[in-house]
Amino acid sequence: MNRQDELEEGLRALPLCQYEFLPADQVPFSGRVREICRKECPRYHKSWSCPPAVGEWEACRMKALYYRRAFVFSTVAEGVDTENMEALLATRSGHEDVVRQVRAGFERVYGECLTLSSESCDVCPICAYPAPCRYPERMLPCIESFGIVVPLLAEQCGMEFSFGAGTVTWFGLIFFDKKEEEG
Ligand code: SF4
Repeated sequence: MNRQDELEEGLRALPLCQYEFLPADQVPFSGRVREICRKECPRYHKSWSCPPAVGEWEACRMKALYYRRAFVFSTVAEGVDTENMEALLATRSGHEDVVRQVRAGFERVYGECLTLSSESCDVCPICAYPAPCRYPERMLPCIESFGIVVPLLAEQCGMEFSFGAGTVTWFGLIFFDKKEEEG
């Protein structure tokens, strides 16, 4: 069994809604996403998983491009009162569990990876930022924090961004297959 088959066998056991593999350099980045973070997101400057703590978006892009390939995936929660923000956000912890299992599968087969998830890290009830992160090994940066245009990425990959009323779609993104160090 080759590495891809081994990986996909593990992925089949997880409740992923849709997924796609693509070359890392085809993931769409834009500084405009970071502008939206800065102007509109209440988590801006409040978490290690968000800007500006994650670094400039161009540096984030370079970090992602240390890897050859990317894997984007979604999970979907159904029967959610999407008008109720608390109920909507409560569906996220299941997604985060799945992201960690997907990450473990990739690390087992490909070694070190870069894993991004939906929204700001919520491992701690109140983030320690700007004091040091309490659980850096558990913290997953938000996909948008890297300047990634998630609706465009989903469109490129033929994935649904939304499944309609009463559903919440969460995304995860893993960069894997690290390039050899030069020199
Ligand atoms: S693990 Fe805790 S301290 Fe670190 S980013 Fe997440 S919430 Fe903040």
